[in-house]
Amino acid sequence: MTELVIRTEKYFDGAVYHSGGPYRVIIKDGVIRSVTADNGAASDLVTPFLMPGLVEAHCHIFLDGGELDFQKRNAYFKADFPAMREVALANLDRSRAAGITVIRDAGDRYGVNHAMRVALSSDPLALAQLRSPGLGVRRPKRYGAFMAREVVEASDLPAIIGEMAATADDVKIILTGIIDFEAGGVKGEPQFNAEELAVIVAAAHQQNRKTFAHCSGLDGLEVAVAAGVDSIEHGFFMTEDILKQMADKGIAWVPTFSPVHFQWARPELVPWNAQTVVNLRKILDSHAEHVALAFKHGVPLVAGSDAGSQGVVHGTALIDELFHFLDAGLPMAEVLMSATSRPRHLWGMASADVAVGNQADLVLLNGSPFENAEALRGATKVVRGMAVG
Ligand SMILES: [Zn+2]
Repeated sequence: MTELVIRTEKYFDGAVYHSGGPYRVIIKDGVIRSVTADNGAASDLVTPFLMPGLVEAHCHIFLDGGELDFQKRNAYFKADFPAMREVALANLDRSRAAGITVIRDAGDRYGVNHAMRVALSSDPLALAQLRSPGLGVRRPKRYGAFMAREVVEASDLPAIIGEMAATADDVKIILTGIIDFEAGGVKGEPQFNAEELAVIVAAAHQQNRKTFAHCSGLDGLEVAVAAGVDSIEHGFFMTEDILKQMADKGIAWVPTFSPVHFQWARPELVPWNAQTVVNLRKILDSHAEHVALAFKHGVPLVAGSDAGSQGVVHGTALIDELFHFLDAGLPMAEVLMSATSRPRHLWGMASADVAVGNQADLVLLNGSPFENAEALRGATKVVRGMAVG
């Protein structure tokens, strides 16, 4: 088949909602050749709604978020490569079922992310592609052992980043520790200071790589903004002042509500005490308020779930993340942009907007999310090039 005709009632093109259908999208040799009013002629696919394929901006493809048992999660870090590969392949299936066609992995030390990137890019019928950083960078003995290599001497940073950038799509930095939910803060000082982080960013940019930094808490956020990282990941304990600086510098924010939301929703697993549950709720509410402020100030918001974290399941978690954006008060078009056109643009990828001349990279939904947001959970098919699945 060299031509694929889709009839859709409505669509979101990556920026604008088109609700005056039906429309006819003709794809030839994998490229969108026309988007017109439907003429009633035969079509290969019929759908209520389509839009560019979803982008998951932050996940760990080698980790199974559905595994809730702490002992099993810890034991898994000693699993062999074939076992991890199986987990990653299942995660790719889950992602596709949710309509995700671009995945940005956020690091693993076992090389599973690179292997998945190769597996997808060498398959002409693959329905998704994966961006892989390989490993991130961190300081010795600090947070991030499962996903980062250690940098002992700051003077080694340019060489280390240069080496990593040669095989990475993006450069991941573990800038801060994890959140201490009981204390309601972030553990430890930032792993790199602003000068060191600026060196990392410059070395990455020299090789045309974007940087994304695991970062929560004001100390880390100040360092990330001063050094001009391209994207702040998590960003808990955000402030409006930081958001204004991010807007000025065009620094993206991937807020990853999902892992913290899961801890709040299932406190009995750890278990968290009542006061910590209150802390978790406060952290989440403040996060939502700052996502609304980020939208107001023009910070480029990008959707990413941190899937692979406990309780954060690949595929469905990205959709949950979109609902967290909606709950924060963001309009549907903004929410969809955060998971379609915006990340592709920020990362220098080809546009997947529903427009003539673009490679087909589409998700079909069983209804319009502009009419009922639940349709976001109703992905029926993915079309990428001439592949349909
Ligand atoms: Zn992560």
